[in-house]
Amino acid sequence: MKIIADFHIHSKYSRATSPQMDLEHLNEAAKIKGVQVISTGDFTHPAWFRELKDKLKPAEPGLFVLDKTKNATRFILTTEISCIYSKNGKVRKAHILIFAPDLATVEKINNQLSIIGNLRADGRPILGLDAKELAKIAWEANPDCLVVPAHCWTPWFAVFGSKSGFNSLEECFEEQTKNIFAVETGLSSDPAMNWQLSGLDKVALISCSDAHSAPKIGREACVFDTDLSYPAIIEAIKNKNPQKFLYTIEFFPEEGKYHYDGHRLCNVHLSPLETKKYRGICPVCGRPLVIGVASRVAELADRQEGFIPPKSIPYKRLIPLTQVIAEVLGVGESTKKAQEVYQRLVLNKLGTELDILIDCPIAEIETAGGSALALAIQKMRAGQVNIEPGYDGVYGKINILSAKEKKDLSVRQIQLF
Ligand SMILES: [Zn+2]
Ligand SMILES: [Zn+2]
Repeated sequence: MKIIADFHIHSKYSRATSPQMDLEHLNEAAKIKGVQVISTGDFTHPAWFRELKDKLKPAEPGLFVLDKTKNATRFILTTEISCIYSKNGKVRKAHILIFAPDLATVEKINNQLSIIGNLRADGRPILGLDAKELAKIAWEANPDCLVVPAHCWTPWFAVFGSKSGFNSLEECFEEQTKNIFAVETGLSSDPAMNWQLSGLDKVALISCSDAHSAPKIGREACVFDTDLSYPAIIEAIKNKNPQKFLYTIEFFPEEGKYHYDGHRLCNVHLSPLETKKYRGICPVCGRPLVIGVASRVAELADRQEGFIPPKSIPYKRLIPLTQVIAEVLGVGESTKKAQEVYQRLVLNKLGTELDILIDCPIAEIETAGGSALALAIQKMRAGQVNIEPGYDGVYGKINILSAKEKKDLSVRQIQLF
């Protein structure tokens, strides 16, 4: 069966998350989005893990449900650890995802990690632990655990980050690299960028939302055609079988917060070429720039842009529906107006958010949401959007419709619905 899965979210026990990141809200929000399998997140947190044990009921192997209804959202046990440690004379900071097949495995991992650091302080704990040692702890608990470097290109907390990362998976995981089967590409990079590194050919590229609030669920995700179970999903990832791992759902990478280089406070944002011209130094404050994902990929790439490796999983680039609606209406994303249209489209009319963005016939979108929205989604699907790239923690800004298109189309049309 077709499964859309989001393997990386955070609970209300992580810093800077919505208090509504609990099982009940995740269960409902995933249905609205069209995500069938969602991460529990944060399974190392004692209070959250107690909630998982109390409330979740076993469903298919390695998957859990909150209620026993037929279309109940499936939960999968994953967590993120922030490893901060020193290696080869440099401070390293890498966020690592761990997937676990059952609660007993989580229990074992948590017991080990609680000796090393404080798991109560944050749903995404900070541990003074080498990423390779963390991976070994997970596999010692259960060899079926999947260990995945998270948002692998972001500057500050990633395995390839410009500020505190490594130049290769081998440098980080050494003899354990053979057991790393996937990396999470993160919002600021897409598979095409990662295909420029031959060193990543052997791993699958997965995409997840890293949601800190319910509306962000599924903004990036993985789409499978496989049995609904932990072993089947993990097999599909490990084998990179395009029959079973169909595609990933991606942001336009320019929209991510670390695509370009720059300084937020200096209002400086530069392309990789411009950064070279300035030798990596901010022209306003004279300090080193925060080098984003595009520059970092270019630095480590050993292939030209546009190269498609033989065994690769395709991808689709999407823009969250509230953002598309907000642009069409010319209002902010969190305004009542944008939210109302979203609710009507998703809840009463067309299907889940991801149905609308990916599969729904344009004619049906036009009937339900007006011609401006239909054109915007058509253009998004064709990749015809303008984006000011994000940098140093600032999201990129998206323009789908040109000023002329907005004027020509009856924007009021959508407001009638
Ligand atoms: Zn992270
Ligand atoms: Zn500056």
